[in-house]
Amino acid sequence: MSPRPDRPLDAVVIGAGPAGLTLAAELARTGQRVQVVAPHGPQAFPATYGAWLDDLPDWAQASAAHVWTDVRVYTGQQPTPLLRPYALLDNDHLRRTLMDRAGPTGWTRGTVIHAQRDGTLWAVHTREGDVLRAPFVADAAGHSGSLTRPHHPGGAALQTAYGLTAEFDTPPSAPGAMVWMDYRTPHGPGDDPTFLYAMHLGGRRYFVEETSLIARPAPTRAQLSQRLHARLRAQGTPPTRVLHEEWVAFPMNAAAPAPGGPLAFGAAGGLVHPISGFQVADALRTAPLVARAVAQSRSTGADPHDAAWAALWTPERRAAREVHLLGVQALLNLTGEQLAPFFQAFFALPPAAWHAFLDPDTPSGPLARTMLRLFTRLPTRTRLPLARAALAHPAVSARALRSALNASTGSAHPPRSSARQADGMTDNPRPESTDHTAADQTVLDREDLNQTQPVTDGMQGATGSADANGLDPDADLAERVAELRENLRPLTES
Ligand SMILES: Cc1cc2nc3c(=O)[nH]c(=O)nc-3n(C[C@H](O)[C@H](O)[C@H](O)COP(=O)(O)OP(=O)(O)OC[C@H]3O[C@@H](n4cnc5c(N)ncnc54)[C@H](O)[C@@H]3O)c2cc1C
Repeated sequence: MSPRPDRPLDAVVIGAGPAGLTLAAELARTGQRVQVVAPHGPQAFPATYGAWLDDLPDWAQASAAHVWTDVRVYTGQQPTPLLRPYALLDNDHLRRTLMDRAGPTGWTRGTVIHAQRDGTLWAVHTREGDVLRAPFVADAAGHSGSLTRPHHPGGAALQTAYGLTAEFDTPPSAPGAMVWMDYRTPHGPGDDPTFLYAMHLGGRRYFVEETSLIARPAPTRAQLSQRLHARLRAQGTPPTRVLHEEWVAFPMNAAAPAPGGPLAFGAAGGLVHPISGFQVADALRTAPLVARAVAQSRSTGADPHDAAWAALWTPERRAAREVHLLGVQALLNLTGEQLAPFFQAFFALPPAAWHAFLDPDTPSGPLARTMLRLFTRLPTRTRLPLARAALAHPAVSARALRSALNASTGSAHPPRSSARQADGMTDNPRPESTDHTAADQTVLDREDLNQTQPVTDGMQGATGSADANGLDPDADLAERVAELRENLRPLTES
């Protein structure tokens, strides 16, 4: 459906990052006339984006530049295989896909400074003097927002990281693998707990990033750069040629925004996952819900912002956000030595449990139950700081505990892509409401420990220059799966 260009605008989307472009595309796909406003024209997103393959909608999986089926964490000397395919996004492919999905969409170059209600419309003003009027306005201007300001309870807790894409004579991490977290051998300066996030990009090229998961205050770029180089030197794997540097710094703990007025979306709207820092896949998945709610509000006469907010921030999702923010506080309380045991226990949970914990659509009941389950598996000295975090927020903790023990509510959000179905999740939306035994069974107890399907699907989802993994589209898939199983055997048997 392509709206006539002379028709009044239906929506203004502020920001042209992944969240803004996705929302603009989905609004356009419901027949609405959309104008994107950003200080720049269409351009590739600058950051390195990764996502669990099964978190990406089916259509977006084609934008994976690389897919790893050998995904590991190190919380001790032995690796733990995660057996969940992980994708690195081809940002330019993703942007072009989003723009194709949007069809002809207006684009204003400008910086939004202000908006106000103007009858049934909102008037959006740019610093350059443009004024755009539409009944629906979305603020997808990134972590600081433009019209809306994300709220970070207790102050912003940041994820910071310093990364390099570089060539190496000696592999700095396992060839052919993606290392989600390597907590071995911390290197100074400073005591902040940091880990290595690393991906083999093929041949001699690797992406290596020294990452502070969450901290307040956070380590600086200089500290992380020194730590990365110290780690690489100590491993005997210094880079021989640096191709690209990346600095990452963004808040992890935005609260769910309040309703009313322009809809905050993406990083501006608190969609960054407070434990993983992921946001892109969630924006891709939730944008259609928002777009449909806005389109429907045109026939029902409801305020489009209220309708969009209600579609995005269901009561279950808001409750889950509270539980995740409690998790943030718990992580902030852990010292460097306590983080590795924490993640060791976390990844020792059944895969369906930790997948669900990292899923923003998991209701608060199963989330809180996972936290309790994790708590019982931790060493005592790691439990104490977590208990302190819970006691510091008695109301939230009590609600979380109640939802863990009582009925659990299902998500109103749609099911995941077929890759998700393959890892033991069903293709049915979670029930609207169900008793806790059923919720537990659906969210926590579906385990496919061999994870055969995700391995196969991960390979099918791969496109582009996925040379690091032998994911050549002409490769014999059965042969590749057998080879991969063989490669993984030492890990699964250890
Ligand atoms: C370096 C880095 C790496 C990351 N890695 C990952 C990852 O691997 N996986 C993941 O899921 N998440 C990751 N994140 C977190 C998060 O997903 C990203 O920050 C993501 O870019 C947020 O998307 P967004 O579209 O909401 O905002 P942004 O990508 O920040 O885009 C904001 C847009 O708004 C525009 N804008 C800003 N102010 C105004 C204004 N006043 N008026 C008009 N336009 C404006 C900007 O120019 C830009 O176009 C990473 C973040 C960083 C910083």
